[in-house]
Formats: sequence, structure tokens, C-alpha cells
Amino acid sequence: MPDLLLVAYAALLGACVGSFLNVCIYRWPEGLSVVRPGSRCPGCETPIKWYDNVPVVGWLLLRGRCRTCGTRISVQYPLIELTTASLWVAAVLRHGFGWQALSSALFFTLLLGIALTDARKYIIPDQFTIGGLVIGLALAFAPGGISPLQSALGAALGFAVLWIIAVLGEAVFRKPAMGGGDIKMMAMVGAFLGPPGVLLTIFLGALFGSLIFGPISLKTGKLVPFGIFLALGAGITEPWGQAIVAWYLSTFLHPA
Ligand SMILES: [Zn+2]
Repeated sequence: MPDLLLVAYAALLGACVGSFLNVCIYRWPEGLSVVRPGSRCPGCETPIKWYDNVPVVGWLLLRGRCRTCGTRISVQYPLIELTTASLWVAAVLRHGFGWQALSSALFFTLLLGIALTDARKYIIPDQFTIGGLVIGLALAFAPGGISPLQSALGAALGFAVLWIIAVLGEAVFRKPAMGGGDIKMMAMVGAFLGPPGVLLTIFLGALFGSLIFGPISLKTGKLVPFGIFLALGAGITEPWGQAIVAWYLSTFLHPA
């Protein structure tokens, strides 16, 4: 059982990261800076005071309204802060306080950011994918986890497989089947999970995408925000990938 103080620290850190993630989710798809200007009320443009901007607590104390003009502030803000805090706590509970917890927490934060921007705008910002790729490659040098070679191979494999799917898809359907964001995203996922993890992620992402969104897409003609399903696949693969592969091998490839 890890120290309660460390778990509380992870929750606090995660909530602050989640608060920043909110800003990234809204501004990166629009090509805006996340540094300047500071957070403003979407209604009256009044800069938000630091004490109203405290994760979760600020929103609760204001009961979801701007202090100046009373405009409603979306519940999405505190929800994303709470979700990110839970992801960071889960990482510390699983790995203890250290490099692997940091790597896991950052990876899930990136996946959350990608899923949300893809859901809102059909955009996966380079900051999450290319930025995340660099973080993943760098963290492979930390003790524990996958080696730098595995990380680089995973990134190359993720990029290559999705690139081939994109080229084949375009040849078959005569329109872009997959965005460049998905390709860069899988390079990032590969850097964190290595080659086996990246393949399982693509398999799970395609499975969930076709099961969940396929019917909706066929009916409404809506584009599949594939990044959401790849993020879901990666989120399952990170903790349970090895167990899933072991189960599959023992069930289907059991020597007779
Ligand atoms: Zn306002």
C-alpha cells in the first residue's frame, strides 16, 4: 500500500495537469497558444482569477458560473480535471511512486487529450502526437519499462502500419480513410508500448471502431473518429496487453 500522502500528491498533480489539459483541448485544435492569454470567461472575457481557477474546487465554489457575468461554465472542465486526477492516482497505485508511474500517467493523459479533441473536432493535435512521441522515447531511457530500442521500434511500427492502412484505404475507397493525426498518434503509442503493444492497440482500435461506430457511420455517413477507438485500445493494452496476449496464446495456440 503506497503512502497516502503520495497518493494525495498524485491526485493534486493530476488535477493540475487536467486543468492544463482543458486549455490544450480547446486551444490546440484552433491553433491558439496555451500560454497566452490566460484563462478567460467565454461569456464576458473577464480573466479568471487564480483562486477561481483552482481545479475542481473553483468550479464547485462558483457552482459552474462566471463570477462576473454568470455565464455557465461547462461541467466538462471539472470532469476532465477529476478524470486526469484519477488516471494519475491509478498510475501511482499500480507502479508505486517513480518513473513508470510518471510514464503511465502521461501516456493516459495524452490518450485522453487525443480522444477528446478527435471527438470534438476530428483533429488530433501534433502537440499530443509528436510531443508525446518525444516524451515516450525519452522516458524509455528511465529505469524499468521498455528499452529505448523497443520504444523506437514500436514508434516505427505504429507509424508504418497506419501509413500502409491509410494508403490502401485511399486506394480502395478513393477518399482519405485515415487522417495523418492517426498515423502520428500510433507512432506515439508505439514509443510508449513497444511493437507487441502497438499491434494489439491497432487490433483493438479497429475492433471497437467497427463494433461501436461502424453501424452509426453506415447509417449517418459520419466520419469515424478513429483516434477515440485507438485511444481506447491503447488504454486497455497498457495495463492488460500482456495478459490478453498470454490468454490468447494459451487458448488458441495450445499445443495439442
Ligand atoms: Zn463572465
